[in-house]
Amino acid sequence: MITENLDVVDQLCAHCGVCSEVCPRQAIANNEDRYGFFLPRIDKNKCNGCLLCHKICPVEAFQFKERLKMLEKDRLSVMGKALGTYLGYHVDSERRSRSSSGGVVSGLLHSCLKSGRVSAALAVGENPSFPLKPVFRLFRTPESLKGLAASKYSPVFMEGALKQAAQDPSVDRMIFVGLPCHIRAVKKAKALIPALSQKEIITIGIFCKKSKDLRFTGYLLSRLTRNRNFSLPDVAFARYRGSGWPGETSMRVCGKEYRQDNRSCAIYSFPWKWHLFSPDSCLFCYDPFARDADISVGDPWLKKYTSGAENQPGLSFVIARTGQAREILVNCGELVTTQASPFEVLESQSPEEIRSKLQDAASRMRIVLKRRGSPLRTRSLMNAYWFLSLKRLFETIFENKDHVTGLPDIFFKVLTRLPTRIMGASYLL
Ligand SMILES: Cc1cc2nc3c(=O)[nH]c(=O)nc-3n(C[C@H](O)[C@H](O)[C@H](O)COP(=O)(O)OP(=O)(O)OC[C@H]3O[C@@H](n4cnc5c(N)ncnc54)[C@H](O)[C@@H]3O)c2cc1C
Ligand code: SF4
Ligand code: SF4
Ligand code: SF4
Repeated sequence: MITENLDVVDQLCAHCGVCSEVCPRQAIANNEDRYGFFLPRIDKNKCNGCLLCHKICPVEAFQFKERLKMLEKDRLSVMGKALGTYLGYHVDSERRSRSSSGGVVSGLLHSCLKSGRVSAALAVGENPSFPLKPVFRLFRTPESLKGLAASKYSPVFMEGALKQAAQDPSVDRMIFVGLPCHIRAVKKAKALIPALSQKEIITIGIFCKKSKDLRFTGYLLSRLTRNRNFSLPDVAFARYRGSGWPGETSMRVCGKEYRQDNRSCAIYSFPWKWHLFSPDSCLFCYDPFARDADISVGDPWLKKYTSGAENQPGLSFVIARTGQAREILVNCGELVTTQASPFEVLESQSPEEIRSKLQDAASRMRIVLKRRGSPLRTRSLMNAYWFLSLKRLFETIFENKDHVTGLPDIFFKVLTRLPTRIMGASYLL
């Protein structure tokens, strides 16, 4: 993140790259982290101190106590304003199955581009030159959307795509699709940058509680292939979702394809449950529903939807926050939508996890940033130490290919079933 004093705090950066897109002096360069993700570096000789980069930075890792209080007062407040909540899926079963959940996002983009409702869509697509590093691109025709569907779990930065959209006069109405951190940054940029404020931008936010860096892909690669000699550059193709819902992971390595069902797979769910291989910034982000987006879309992680053959091609939960968004959604000829309870939408995203992110967050931040400050409760600090030590320990163990390829499945199953309360030390005291 970029502070008011123009300090870059690497540990809190969400790697969105929007600061670099809006800088009027091209003073922000990419100082890639060790996984190749964007980290800003400000050239003080070029910078004029306008603070635009600070103003659009989406990181809001503060006011933990206030947010916790809000959540306790009104559980639904975390979702932001909702005019309507829906369950939806694409009418074409092939497209529905190819997507992450119900194919709602790709269906909306396809129908808006086809009908001319928008002139372009700015979203994440595949990167043929490096499949593990997806890129933001401007899609201008429905046919160009091939390769867009399905989640890519790494953080993705703008890499010039937002600037290109801002400068292109033919892009007058566009849809922007991104994670909650992307949405917050782009909304701020639209308010502050004249070239963007003249455009109509409909935002679609993807539910998100954490992204995963390349260690996650390396871990899946070792386990899927059971071959410790493969490395990330050998991966010609990687999909983490798709082929139904919750779908399968598939990778093509050295000419051979490897697949694994995600549904009952502890190998897949264990790193999600234990926050492994996620950037530290995700530990301080509590906007799982992309509350600033016009439309938000996520998975219905509830037993009644994860089971049942009729749900297997895929389903999505959808939140519409503006009248225009609701009209686009309900009148989209490519989607089937029915009303859903907002409480079901909330329950699908593990409210305990959302709450536990806020609990002890100030202590975790103190440890991550290695800074001193006003005194914090000893119990909270102990919880934070315990949580971060467990995360780092598991990451070290499961970065090692020998451990990942050699350990029996039962080991991962047991770890997945352990209650997440263990992540807090007070559970053990
Ligand atoms: C990092 C990440 C974390 C997520 N966490 C959760 C979660 O905790 N709970 C939950 O319910 N759902 C989560 N999802 C969302 C879920 O996996 C589906 O993307 C969502 O339900 C939309 O499904 P769909 O079938 O409608 O989308 P599709 O039709 O398959 O389209 C997917 C869309 O996602 C975009 N996209 C893919 N990867 C990225 C990325 N890295 N950054 C920005 N945009 C991307 C594509 O451009 C495309 O527009 C997460 C997704 C990502 C990428
Ligand atoms: S705008 Fe994005 S890339 Fe820039 S510092 Fe903030 S989070 Fe990081
Ligand atoms: S303060 Fe202004 S000129 Fe300096 S880096 Fe930030 S956006 Fe660029
Ligand atoms: S949790 Fe998701 S939205 Fe938040 S910073 Fe991480 S990737 Fe971005």
